[in-house]
Amino acid sequence: MPRTLDALDAWKTLPIKQQPEYPDPAAVAEVASELTALPPLVFAGEVDTLRARLAEAAAGRAFLLQGGDCAETFSGATADKIRNRVKTVLQMAVVLTYGASMPVVKMGRMAGQFAKPRSSDVETRGDVTLPAFRGEIVNGYDFTTASRQADPQRLLQAYHTSASTLNLIRAFTQGGFADLREVHSWNKGFAENPANKRYEGLAHEIDRAIKFMEACGADFEELRRVEFYTGHEGLLMDYERPLTRIDSRTGEIYNTSSHFQWIGERTRELDGAHVEYFSHIRNPIGVKLGPTTSTDTALALIDKLDPEREPGRLTFITRMGAGRIREALPPLLEAVKASGAQPLWVTDPMHGNGITTPTGYKTRRFDDVVDEVRGFFEAHRAVGTFPGGIHVELTGDDVTECLGGSEQIDEATLATRYESLCDPRLNHMQSLELAFLVAEELEK
Ligand code: PEP
Ligand code: MN
Repeated sequence: MPRTLDALDAWKTLPIKQQPEYPDPAAVAEVASELTALPPLVFAGEVDTLRARLAEAAAGRAFLLQGGDCAETFSGATADKIRNRVKTVLQMAVVLTYGASMPVVKMGRMAGQFAKPRSSDVETRGDVTLPAFRGEIVNGYDFTTASRQADPQRLLQAYHTSASTLNLIRAFTQGGFADLREVHSWNKGFAENPANKRYEGLAHEIDRAIKFMEACGADFEELRRVEFYTGHEGLLMDYERPLTRIDSRTGEIYNTSSHFQWIGERTRELDGAHVEYFSHIRNPIGVKLGPTTSTDTALALIDKLDPEREPGRLTFITRMGAGRIREALPPLLEAVKASGAQPLWVTDPMHGNGITTPTGYKTRRFDDVVDEVRGFFEAHRAVGTFPGGIHVELTGDDVTECLGGSEQIDEATLATRYESLCDPRLNHMQSLELAFLVAEELEK
Protein backbone atom coordinates (compact mmCIF):
# COMPACT_ATOMS: atom_id res chain seq x y z
CA MET A 1 0.00 0.00 0.00
CA PRO A 2 1.59 3.32 -1.01
CA ARG A 3 1.98 5.77 1.87
CA THR A 4 2.10 8.91 -0.18
CA LEU A 5 -0.63 10.19 -2.42
CA ASP A 6 1.78 10.35 -5.40
CA ALA A 7 2.25 6.60 -5.35
CA LEU A 8 -1.49 6.29 -5.69
CA ASP A 9 -1.57 7.97 -9.05
CA ALA A 10 -0.60 5.14 -11.38
CA TRP A 11 -4.22 5.26 -12.65
CA LYS A 12 -3.34 8.45 -14.50
CA THR A 13 -1.23 6.48 -16.96
CA LEU A 14 -4.03 3.99 -17.75
CA PRO A 15 -6.99 4.13 -20.14
CA ILE A 16 -9.96 5.79 -18.49
CA LYS A 17 -13.63 5.77 -19.49
CA GLN A 18 -16.66 7.97 -18.86
CA GLN A 19 -14.83 11.22 -18.01
CA PRO A 20 -16.10 14.55 -19.38
CA GLU A 21 -14.13 16.83 -21.64
CA TYR A 22 -13.69 20.16 -19.94
CA PRO A 23 -13.12 23.17 -22.18
CA ASP A 24 -10.50 24.65 -19.83
CA PRO A 25 -8.21 22.14 -18.05
CA ALA A 26 -6.61 24.92 -15.98
CA ALA A 27 -10.00 25.67 -14.41
CA VAL A 28 -10.36 21.99 -13.46
CA ALA A 29 -6.94 22.03 -11.80
CA GLU A 30 -7.94 25.11 -9.82
CA VAL A 31 -11.11 23.45 -8.58
CA ALA A 32 -9.16 20.30 -7.72
CA SER A 33 -6.85 22.28 -5.48
CA GLU A 34 -9.85 23.90 -3.80
CA LEU A 35 -11.41 20.48 -3.20
CA THR A 36 -8.12 19.19 -1.84
CA ALA A 37 -8.16 21.91 0.81
CA LEU A 38 -11.76 21.29 1.90
CA PRO A 39 -12.53 19.07 4.91
CA PRO A 40 -13.19 15.37 4.37
CA LEU A 41 -16.90 14.45 4.30
CA VAL A 42 -16.42 11.26 6.30
CA PHE A 43 -13.96 10.18 8.97
CA ALA A 44 -11.65 7.22 8.32
CA GLY A 45 -12.73 5.61 11.59
CA GLU A 46 -16.32 5.41 10.33
CA VAL A 47 -15.09 3.80 7.14
CA ASP A 48 -13.29 1.15 9.19
CA THR A 49 -16.45 0.48 11.19
CA LEU A 50 -18.41 0.04 7.98
CA ARG A 51 -15.81 -2.45 6.72
CA ALA A 52 -16.32 -4.48 9.92
CA ARG A 53 -20.13 -4.35 9.43
CA LEU A 54 -19.82 -5.51 5.82
CA ALA A 55 -17.55 -8.34 6.97
CA GLU A 56 -20.43 -9.52 9.16
CA ALA A 57 -22.74 -9.46 6.14
CA ALA A 58 -20.23 -11.35 4.00
CA ALA A 59 -20.08 -13.99 6.72
CA GLY A 60 -23.88 -14.37 6.76
CA ARG A 61 -24.51 -12.56 10.05
CA ALA A 62 -25.90 -9.25 8.72
CA PHE A 63 -27.61 -7.87 5.63
CA LEU A 64 -26.78 -4.74 3.60
CA LEU A 65 -29.52 -2.38 2.43
CA GLN A 66 -28.35 0.25 -0.08
CA GLY A 67 -30.87 2.64 -1.56
CA GLY A 68 -31.35 6.05 -3.09
CA ASP A 69 -31.60 8.00 -6.31
CA CYS A 70 -30.05 6.88 -9.56
CA ALA A 71 -28.78 10.43 -9.90
CA GLU A 72 -29.07 12.93 -7.08
CA THR A 73 -29.78 16.50 -8.11
CA PHE A 74 -28.77 19.76 -6.49
CA SER A 75 -32.35 20.98 -6.30
CA GLY A 76 -33.44 17.63 -4.85
CA ALA A 77 -31.31 18.13 -1.73
CA THR A 78 -34.22 19.55 0.27
CA ALA A 79 -35.15 18.67 3.84
CA ASP A 80 -38.39 16.98 2.73
CA LYS A 81 -36.86 14.80 0.06
CA ILE A 82 -33.87 13.79 2.17
CA ARG A 83 -36.16 12.98 5.10
CA ASN A 84 -38.47 10.87 2.94
CA ARG A 85 -35.57 8.87 1.54
CA VAL A 86 -34.03 8.32 4.99
CA LYS A 87 -37.44 7.30 6.37
CA THR A 88 -37.99 4.87 3.50
CA VAL A 89 -34.60 3.22 4.10
CA LEU A 90 -35.28 3.06 7.86
CA GLN A 91 -38.70 1.50 7.28
CA MET A 92 -37.26 -1.07 4.89
CA ALA A 93 -34.53 -1.81 7.42
CA VAL A 94 -37.11 -2.39 10.16
CA VAL A 95 -39.02 -4.81 7.95
CA LEU A 96 -35.79 -6.68 7.13
CA THR A 97 -34.42 -6.69 10.68
CA TYR A 98 -37.69 -7.95 12.07
CA GLY A 99 -38.22 -10.55 9.39
CA ALA A 100 -34.68 -11.88 9.33
CA SER A 101 -33.74 -11.27 12.97
CA MET A 102 -30.46 -9.99 11.69
CA PRO A 103 -28.66 -6.62 11.87
CA VAL A 104 -29.20 -4.53 8.75
CA VAL A 105 -26.40 -2.25 7.56
CA LYS A 106 -28.07 0.89 6.22
CA MET A 107 -26.51 2.84 3.38
CA GLY A 108 -27.85 5.63 1.18
CA ARG A 109 -27.03 6.10 -2.48
CA MET A 110 -26.93 9.63 -1.13
CA ALA A 111 -24.63 12.58 -0.42
CA GLY A 112 -22.43 12.04 -3.47
CA GLN A 113 -24.37 10.06 -6.10
CA PHE A 114 -24.10 12.74 -8.78
CA ALA A 115 -21.98 11.33 -11.63
CA LYS A 116 -23.52 9.08 -14.29
CA PRO A 117 -21.89 6.78 -16.84
CA ARG A 118 -23.61 7.05 -20.24
CA SER A 119 -23.93 4.61 -23.12
CA SER A 120 -23.16 7.39 -25.61
CA ASP A 121 -21.04 10.55 -25.30
CA VAL A 122 -23.67 12.51 -27.17
CA GLU A 123 -27.43 12.83 -27.31
CA THR A 124 -29.35 13.68 -30.47
CA ARG A 125 -32.79 15.23 -30.54
CA GLY A 126 -34.13 15.99 -34.01
CA ASP A 127 -31.18 17.43 -35.88
CA VAL A 128 -29.35 18.72 -32.80
CA THR A 129 -26.52 16.71 -31.23
CA LEU A 130 -25.09 17.78 -27.86
CA PRO A 131 -22.89 16.17 -25.18
CA ALA A 132 -24.81 13.62 -23.08
CA PHE A 133 -25.98 14.56 -19.59
CA ARG A 134 -23.43 13.07 -17.15
CA GLY A 135 -25.04 14.05 -13.87
CA GLU A 136 -25.22 17.49 -12.28
CA ILE A 137 -21.67 17.19 -10.99
CA VAL A 138 -20.61 17.52 -14.65
CA ASN A 139 -23.23 19.38 -16.70
CA GLY A 140 -26.88 20.43 -16.78
CA TYR A 141 -29.87 18.33 -17.87
CA ASP A 142 -31.39 21.03 -20.10
CA PHE A 143 -30.83 20.27 -23.74
CA THR A 144 -28.92 23.43 -24.68
CA THR A 145 -25.30 23.95 -25.68
CA ALA A 146 -24.58 26.07 -22.61
CA SER A 147 -26.15 23.63 -20.16
CA ARG A 148 -24.48 20.53 -21.63
CA GLN A 149 -21.01 22.11 -21.44
CA ALA A 150 -18.98 20.42 -18.67
CA ASP A 151 -18.39 22.98 -15.91
CA PRO A 152 -15.77 22.29 -13.18
CA GLN A 153 -17.52 24.64 -10.73
CA ARG A 154 -20.14 21.88 -10.47
CA LEU A 155 -17.57 19.71 -8.67
CA LEU A 156 -17.61 22.21 -5.82
CA GLN A 157 -21.39 22.42 -5.84
CA ALA A 158 -21.55 18.62 -5.61
CA TYR A 159 -19.19 18.68 -2.63
CA HIS A 160 -21.23 21.31 -0.78
CA THR A 161 -24.54 19.62 -1.62
CA SER A 162 -23.12 16.33 -0.36
CA ALA A 163 -21.94 18.04 2.84
CA SER A 164 -25.36 19.52 3.59
CA THR A 165 -27.15 16.27 2.71
CA LEU A 166 -24.83 14.29 4.95
CA ASN A 167 -25.27 16.84 7.72
CA LEU A 168 -29.03 16.31 7.71
CA ILE A 169 -28.65 12.53 7.50
CA ARG A 170 -26.38 12.66 10.53
CA ALA A 171 -28.82 14.91 12.39
CA PHE A 172 -31.73 12.56 11.69
CA THR A 173 -29.89 9.37 12.53
CA GLN A 174 -28.02 10.63 15.59
CA GLY A 175 -30.47 13.16 16.99
CA GLY A 176 -33.47 11.00 17.89
CA PHE A 177 -35.50 11.01 14.65
CA ALA A 178 -34.37 7.47 13.81
CA ASP A 179 -35.03 6.19 17.34
CA LEU A 180 -36.70 2.79 17.02
CA ARG A 181 -39.39 4.03 19.38
CA GLU A 182 -40.44 6.33 16.53
CA VAL A 183 -41.13 3.37 14.28
CA HIS A 184 -44.78 4.43 13.77
CA SER A 185 -44.02 8.04 12.99
CA TRP A 186 -41.90 7.12 9.96
CA ASN A 187 -45.08 5.86 8.33
CA LYS A 188 -46.88 9.18 8.76
CA GLY A 189 -47.17 11.55 5.83
CA PHE A 190 -47.18 8.76 3.28
CA ALA A 191 -50.36 8.03 1.40
CA GLU A 192 -52.36 5.15 2.82
CA ASN A 193 -51.73 1.97 0.90
CA PRO A 194 -51.44 -1.79 1.47
CA ALA A 195 -47.68 -1.73 2.13
CA ASN A 196 -48.00 1.04 4.70
CA LYS A 197 -50.84 -0.86 6.36
CA ARG A 198 -48.74 -3.99 6.60
CA TYR A 199 -45.89 -1.89 7.99
CA GLU A 200 -48.23 -0.37 10.58
CA GLY A 201 -49.01 -3.86 11.86
CA LEU A 202 -45.35 -4.65 12.21
CA ALA A 203 -44.62 -1.31 13.91
CA HIS A 204 -47.36 -2.14 16.40
CA GLU A 205 -45.69 -5.46 17.27
CA ILE A 206 -42.31 -3.76 17.68
CA ASP A 207 -43.90 -1.12 19.91
CA ARG A 208 -45.42 -3.75 22.16
CA ALA A 209 -42.08 -5.58 22.41
CA ILE A 210 -40.27 -2.35 23.32
CA LYS A 211 -42.89 -1.38 25.92
CA PHE A 212 -42.65 -4.84 27.44
CA MET A 213 -38.85 -4.63 27.64
CA GLU A 214 -39.03 -1.10 29.04
CA ALA A 215 -41.45 -2.29 31.73
CA CYS A 216 -38.87 -4.97 32.55
CA GLY A 217 -36.31 -2.21 33.10
CA ALA A 218 -34.28 -2.53 29.89
CA ASP A 219 -32.22 0.51 28.92
CA PHE A 220 -32.91 1.66 25.36
CA GLU A 221 -30.30 4.36 24.92
CA GLU A 222 -28.89 2.12 22.14
CA LEU A 223 -32.09 2.56 20.12
CA ARG A 224 -31.68 6.32 19.87
CA ARG A 225 -28.94 6.32 17.30
CA VAL A 226 -28.67 4.50 14.01
CA GLU A 227 -25.56 3.95 11.92
CA PHE A 228 -26.24 5.20 8.42
CA TYR A 229 -23.53 5.12 5.77
CA THR A 230 -23.16 6.82 2.41
CA GLY A 231 -22.04 5.33 -0.88
CA HIS A 232 -21.92 6.33 -4.53
CA GLU A 233 -20.45 5.21 -7.82
CA GLY A 234 -16.76 6.17 -7.82
CA LEU A 235 -16.72 7.45 -11.36
CA LEU A 236 -15.54 11.01 -11.78
CA MET A 237 -11.86 11.11 -10.95
CA ASP A 238 -11.75 14.93 -10.80
CA TYR A 239 -13.94 14.57 -7.72
CA GLU A 240 -12.72 11.31 -6.18
CA ARG A 241 -9.01 12.02 -6.34
CA PRO A 242 -8.95 15.43 -4.58
CA LEU A 243 -11.05 13.98 -1.75
CA THR A 244 -8.54 11.16 -1.24
CA ARG A 245 -6.56 11.72 1.94
CA ILE A 246 -3.98 10.15 4.21
CA ASP A 247 -5.50 9.33 7.59
CA SER A 248 -3.44 11.11 10.23
CA ARG A 249 -4.00 8.28 12.72
CA THR A 250 -2.74 5.42 10.62
CA GLY A 251 -1.01 6.84 7.54
CA GLU A 252 -3.42 4.85 5.36
CA ILE A 253 -5.21 6.22 2.30
CA TYR A 254 -8.97 6.80 2.32
CA ASN A 255 -11.45 8.23 -0.14
CA THR A 256 -13.27 10.67 2.14
CA SER A 257 -16.07 11.61 -0.29
CA SER A 258 -18.24 8.83 1.22
CA HIS A 259 -17.86 5.68 3.29
CA PHE A 260 -18.27 3.31 0.34
CA GLN A 261 -17.74 3.61 -3.39
CA TRP A 262 -18.53 1.14 -6.11
CA ILE A 263 -17.06 0.72 -9.56
CA GLY A 264 -19.76 0.57 -12.24
CA GLU A 265 -20.32 -2.14 -14.82
CA ARG A 266 -18.90 0.16 -17.51
CA THR A 267 -15.64 1.14 -15.81
CA ARG A 268 -14.48 -2.07 -14.17
CA GLU A 269 -11.88 -3.19 -16.75
CA LEU A 270 -9.03 -4.94 -14.98
CA ASP A 271 -6.42 -2.79 -16.71
CA GLY A 272 -8.38 0.42 -16.48
CA ALA A 273 -7.88 3.51 -14.35
CA HIS A 274 -10.76 2.97 -11.92
CA VAL A 275 -9.81 -0.50 -10.73
CA GLU A 276 -6.20 0.64 -10.33
CA TYR A 277 -7.13 3.69 -8.24
CA PHE A 278 -9.59 1.82 -6.01
CA SER A 279 -7.06 -0.94 -5.39
CA HIS A 280 -5.07 1.56 -3.30
CA ILE A 281 -7.66 2.96 -0.93
CA ARG A 282 -8.80 1.52 2.40
CA ASN A 283 -12.56 2.00 1.93
CA PRO A 284 -14.76 -1.00 1.36
CA ILE A 285 -15.28 -1.20 -2.41
CA GLY A 286 -18.13 -2.53 -4.52
CA VAL A 287 -17.98 -3.73 -8.11
CA LYS A 288 -21.06 -4.11 -10.30
CA LEU A 289 -21.18 -7.39 -12.21
CA GLY A 290 -23.42 -7.72 -15.25
CA PRO A 291 -24.63 -10.94 -16.91
CA THR A 292 -21.62 -11.34 -19.21
CA THR A 293 -19.06 -11.36 -16.36
CA SER A 294 -16.78 -14.38 -16.70
CA THR A 295 -15.54 -16.35 -13.74
CA ASP A 296 -11.97 -15.35 -14.69
CA THR A 297 -12.92 -11.69 -14.49
CA ALA A 298 -14.55 -12.10 -11.08
CA LEU A 299 -11.49 -13.93 -9.74
CA ALA A 300 -9.07 -11.39 -11.22
CA LEU A 301 -11.07 -8.53 -9.67
CA ILE A 302 -10.72 -10.22 -6.29
CA ASP A 303 -6.97 -10.57 -6.78
CA LYS A 304 -6.57 -6.95 -7.78
CA LEU A 305 -8.94 -5.29 -5.32
CA ASP A 306 -8.73 -7.62 -2.36
CA PRO A 307 -5.39 -9.47 -2.54
CA GLU A 308 -5.34 -9.95 1.25
CA ARG A 309 -8.91 -11.36 1.28
CA GLU A 310 -9.76 -8.86 3.98
CA PRO A 311 -13.25 -9.43 5.42
CA GLY A 312 -15.64 -6.66 4.34
CA ARG A 313 -13.27 -5.16 1.78
CA LEU A 314 -14.99 -6.31 -1.40
CA THR A 315 -18.66 -6.36 -2.35
CA PHE A 316 -19.90 -7.80 -5.63
CA ILE A 317 -23.15 -6.15 -6.69
CA THR A 318 -24.72 -8.38 -9.32
CA ARG A 319 -27.15 -6.86 -11.85
CA MET A 320 -27.93 -9.67 -14.21
CA GLY A 321 -31.53 -9.09 -15.23
CA ALA A 322 -34.46 -11.27 -14.18
CA GLY A 323 -34.19 -13.39 -17.31
CA ARG A 324 -30.48 -14.14 -16.90
CA ILE A 325 -29.69 -14.33 -13.20
CA ARG A 326 -30.58 -17.99 -12.73
CA GLU A 327 -28.07 -19.10 -15.33
CA ALA A 328 -25.44 -16.32 -15.02
CA LEU A 329 -24.99 -16.06 -11.25
CA PRO A 330 -24.44 -19.65 -10.02
CA PRO A 331 -21.18 -20.25 -11.96
CA LEU A 332 -19.72 -17.03 -10.50
CA LEU A 333 -20.76 -18.03 -6.99
CA GLU A 334 -19.26 -21.51 -7.47
CA ALA A 335 -15.94 -20.25 -8.80
CA VAL A 336 -15.51 -17.59 -6.13
CA LYS A 337 -16.47 -20.02 -3.39
CA ALA A 338 -14.00 -22.60 -4.73
CA SER A 339 -11.23 -19.96 -4.70
CA GLY A 340 -11.71 -19.53 -0.95
CA ALA A 341 -12.62 -15.84 -1.25
CA GLN A 342 -15.63 -14.52 0.64
CA PRO A 343 -16.82 -11.24 -0.87
CA LEU A 344 -20.17 -9.79 0.15
CA TRP A 345 -22.77 -10.65 -2.52
CA VAL A 346 -25.46 -8.05 -3.10
CA THR A 347 -28.25 -7.96 -5.68
CA ASP A 348 -29.04 -4.86 -7.73
CA PRO A 349 -32.36 -5.93 -9.28
CA MET A 350 -32.71 -2.63 -11.14
CA HIS A 351 -30.02 -2.20 -13.76
CA GLY A 352 -30.52 -5.47 -15.64
CA ASN A 353 -34.24 -4.82 -16.04
CA GLY A 354 -34.52 -1.54 -17.90
CA ILE A 355 -37.06 -1.13 -20.70
CA THR A 356 -38.30 1.82 -22.73
CA THR A 357 -42.03 2.26 -23.32
CA PRO A 358 -43.38 3.13 -26.77
CA THR A 359 -44.01 6.61 -25.37
CA GLY A 360 -40.30 6.96 -24.60
CA TYR A 361 -40.17 6.48 -20.81
CA LYS A 362 -37.23 4.56 -19.34
CA THR A 363 -38.87 2.24 -16.86
CA ARG A 364 -38.69 -1.11 -15.07
CA ARG A 365 -41.39 -3.62 -14.21
CA PHE A 366 -41.76 -4.18 -10.48
CA ASP A 367 -42.41 -7.86 -11.27
CA ASP A 368 -39.00 -8.15 -12.97
CA VAL A 369 -37.32 -6.53 -9.98
CA VAL A 370 -39.03 -9.03 -7.69
CA ASP A 371 -38.15 -11.91 -10.00
CA GLU A 372 -34.45 -10.97 -10.02
CA VAL A 373 -34.45 -10.79 -6.21
CA ARG A 374 -36.01 -14.26 -6.06
CA GLY A 375 -33.45 -15.57 -8.57
CA PHE A 376 -30.66 -14.10 -6.43
CA PHE A 377 -31.85 -15.98 -3.35
CA GLU A 378 -32.38 -19.19 -5.33
CA ALA A 379 -28.86 -19.06 -6.78
CA HIS A 380 -27.27 -18.55 -3.37
CA ARG A 381 -29.34 -21.31 -1.81
CA ALA A 382 -28.30 -23.70 -4.58
CA VAL A 383 -24.59 -22.94 -4.22
CA GLY A 384 -24.48 -22.53 -0.45
CA THR A 385 -23.29 -18.91 -0.39
CA PHE A 386 -24.93 -16.05 1.51
CA PRO A 387 -27.22 -13.56 -0.25
CA GLY A 388 -25.95 -10.61 1.76
CA GLY A 389 -27.71 -7.51 0.56
CA ILE A 390 -29.85 -5.52 -1.81
CA HIS A 391 -29.02 -2.37 -3.79
CA VAL A 392 -31.99 -0.41 -5.12
CA GLU A 393 -32.84 2.87 -6.78
CA LEU A 394 -35.64 4.36 -4.72
CA THR A 395 -37.15 7.55 -3.50
CA GLY A 396 -39.37 8.35 -0.55
CA ASP A 397 -41.74 10.25 -2.81
CA ASP A 398 -44.84 8.94 -4.58
CA VAL A 399 -43.36 9.07 -8.05
CA THR A 400 -44.60 6.94 -10.95
CA GLU A 401 -41.42 5.69 -12.58
CA CYS A 402 -41.54 1.86 -12.29
CA LEU A 403 -44.46 -0.18 -13.66
CA GLY A 404 -46.61 -2.37 -11.40
CA GLY A 405 -46.60 -2.90 -7.67
CA SER A 406 -49.87 -3.05 -5.80
CA GLU A 407 -50.86 0.41 -7.08
CA GLN A 408 -50.54 -1.16 -10.54
CA ILE A 409 -48.81 1.77 -12.17
CA ASP A 410 -49.33 1.33 -15.91
CA GLU A 411 -47.74 2.92 -18.96
CA ALA A 412 -50.29 5.73 -19.07
CA THR A 413 -49.67 6.56 -15.39
CA LEU A 414 -45.89 6.93 -15.82
CA ALA A 415 -46.35 10.45 -17.16
CA THR A 416 -48.19 11.69 -14.06
CA ARG A 417 -45.15 11.91 -11.82
CA TYR A 418 -41.93 10.91 -13.55
CA GLU A 419 -39.13 12.98 -11.98
CA SER A 420 -35.90 11.00 -12.35
CA LEU A 421 -33.26 12.58 -14.57
CA CYS A 422 -31.76 9.18 -15.17
CA ASP A 423 -33.05 5.70 -14.24
CA PRO A 424 -36.55 5.01 -12.84
CA ARG A 425 -36.80 4.54 -9.06
CA LEU A 426 -39.11 2.50 -6.89
CA ASN A 427 -41.50 4.82 -5.08
CA HIS A 428 -42.06 4.70 -1.33
CA MET A 429 -44.71 2.01 -1.50
CA GLN A 430 -42.92 -0.20 -4.02
CA SER A 431 -39.81 0.02 -1.81
CA LEU A 432 -41.70 -1.19 1.24
CA GLU A 433 -43.33 -3.98 -0.75
CA LEU A 434 -39.92 -5.11 -1.90
CA ALA A 435 -38.60 -5.06 1.68
CA PHE A 436 -41.41 -7.40 2.79
CA LEU A 437 -40.56 -9.75 -0.04
CA VAL A 438 -36.84 -9.77 0.80
CA ALA A 439 -37.67 -10.37 4.47
CA GLU A 440 -39.71 -13.42 3.44
CA GLU A 441 -36.81 -14.73 1.37
CA LEU A 442 -34.41 -14.21 4.29
CA GLU A 443 -36.75 -16.13 6.59
CA LYS A 444 -36.86 -19.20 4.30
C1 PEP B 1 -26.05 2.83 -11.48
O1 PEP B 1 -25.89 2.20 -10.42
O2 PEP B 1 -26.77 3.84 -11.57
C2 PEP B 1 -25.41 2.28 -12.71
C3 PEP B 1 -25.14 3.03 -13.76
O3 PEP B 1 -25.21 0.96 -12.61
P1 PEP B 1 -24.38 -0.07 -13.53
O4 PEP B 1 -22.94 0.32 -13.40
O5 PEP B 1 -24.70 -1.37 -12.87
O6 PEP B 1 -24.92 0.03 -14.92
MN1 MN C 1 -29.02 3.92 -12.34
